[in-house]
Amino acid sequence: MKKNVVIIGCGFAGQAAARRLKNFGGRGLRTVVIDKNPLTSFLPLLPDVLGRGIPSGLLTYPVALLQKAFSFDFINEEALGLDLSRKEVETSGRRLGYDYCVIACGSRTNFYGNEQAQKTAYALDDAHDASRIRKALDERPQTAACIIAGGGYTGVEIAGNLRRYFDCRRRQARIIIVEKAPQILGPLPEWMRRHVLKNLREMRVEVFTGTVLEKIEGDTAVLSGGRVFAQALLIWCPGVKVPDFAQKMQCKKNPQGRLMVDEYLRVDDSCFAAGDAAFFLYRGDPLRMAVQFAIYQGEAAAVNVIRSWRGLPLKKYAPLDLGFVVPLANNDSCGRIAGINVKGPVATILHYLMCVFRSRGLSNKAGITVSLLKGGIMADIALFILRLGTGVMFFAHGLQLAFGLFGGPGVSGFSKSLQGLGFAPALAWAYLAAYTCLIGGALLVAGFLVRISAAALFIFIAVAAWTVHWQKGFFAQQGGYEYNFIIACVCLALVIAGPGKIGISRKW
Ligand SMILES: Cc1cc2nc3c(=O)[nH]c(=O)nc-3n(C[C@H](O)[C@H](O)[C@H](O)COP(=O)(O)OP(=O)(O)OC[C@H]3O[C@@H](n4cnc5c(N)ncnc54)[C@H](O)[C@@H]3O)c2cc1C
Repeated sequence: MKKNVVIIGCGFAGQAAARRLKNFGGRGLRTVVIDKNPLTSFLPLLPDVLGRGIPSGLLTYPVALLQKAFSFDFINEEALGLDLSRKEVETSGRRLGYDYCVIACGSRTNFYGNEQAQKTAYALDDAHDASRIRKALDERPQTAACIIAGGGYTGVEIAGNLRRYFDCRRRQARIIIVEKAPQILGPLPEWMRRHVLKNLREMRVEVFTGTVLEKIEGDTAVLSGGRVFAQALLIWCPGVKVPDFAQKMQCKKNPQGRLMVDEYLRVDDSCFAAGDAAFFLYRGDPLRMAVQFAIYQGEAAAVNVIRSWRGLPLKKYAPLDLGFVVPLANNDSCGRIAGINVKGPVATILHYLMCVFRSRGLSNKAGITVSLLKGGIMADIALFILRLGTGVMFFAHGLQLAFGLFGGPGVSGFSKSLQGLGFAPALAWAYLAAYTCLIGGALLVAGFLVRISAAALFIFIAVAAWTVHWQKGFFAQQGGYEYNFIIACVCLALVIAGPGKIGISRKW
């Protein structure tokens, strides 16, 4: 007879467990997935629905499609209780016995019993929440302040995205993070906290630490210390907790209600937990809540279900930490990837690459990529490509003119040509032009003094167009200035745009 494996929750951990069970479980296991939602949500991009305009629909994927791919039975109901001793899950519609269970129900916003906040404030737990906040922003043009309760990763990400939202629409609103602790992003290293704070300041996000939201009256928020904000939109993200059924379970939990698991991810002999729902201590520290751990834990829990069923010794779960990024809406993110500190657009790009890679469905991946491109993340890359291409071309040209490399004339040959064109003293002009190309090209690539270099190169190319090509008309075919014209346009664009965010300097 087949053994029943019940997975509660079809997020990252639940899907990974179901996939592993399908691939390695064989015919002896029947997998049932319970999820209260018919659509899964891709949480890491929820804040981007607000700022970068990613349609929330692209962040969902039907469980029915996963059901086909991973061959499980799907029960679209909420789990309300789990009895470990009777090996039974109670849902809104039935009681279901199991031989093995994987709890992968994730976590949700914790309102800490604040009924006012629960009634008035917005949470950001799934794609539906993201579109509700977006709708509220669109429909309430009178909004004067957005108050974000909680200065963790989610709060910081939301704040930056809100600034992006208001700036794009040329609307004014104060954006305020209210944090009870003396500092935001408590567990992060000092350099990251400083980096984030600097960027929040640049995005005109105000941060009130050591402050709590004391009262909410309609759309008026009152903070401790007497600050009052009228026409405020309140977003609540000071912490998370696991769903109620897990909180009620008779087993060890941490204060958030996360289920304490052992090194095999076991809650008891036949029940495992994975993802946000599991509290796993690694070398004495709790593992943070993250997509990568949810996926690997889901797989590891499924492997142990299979091994337990086959009577094999269980495998210890050994976390592999690939790193993390704190994505900031101005693209100056920061993080630590594979043990290396990263900041700036590189960190942003790594984050979004992870997001596109981990999201479900080809059309979602394509849609997210297009939205991100439209949302401006790629503008800096585009500028860098423009600088790189133009800089390399000028630098190579400079090597020809200054040193006679790649079949070039060298300074003396170049000065003879200039003499023929009427430049005097020709040698001085030859040096000036050759080194303008050489140094200007190198600076464009490096992203330093970009505006000045681009202006100098613009003059160089304009002079070349005028003295050598002008009389021959526009088209390059007849020796005209077509090619110089394009390069002059690029140089002019770089004078206007400046270096962008990839390079040595962002100002110069
Ligand atoms: C705004 C935001 C941004 C984030 N950004 C990042 C990031 O950039 N990088 C990163 O690594 N992590 C990020 N995270 C954290 C990451 O999304 C979570 O760690 C991850 O989703 C946990 O996966 P999970 O499978 O445990 O839970 P989830 O993915 O949340 O899935 C839980 C599933 O269980 C279902 N469920 C819940 N309760 C019940 C119930 N009672 N009955 C039936 N079904 C139930 C839910 O419907 C859901 O489908 C972010 C989280 C948020 C909220």
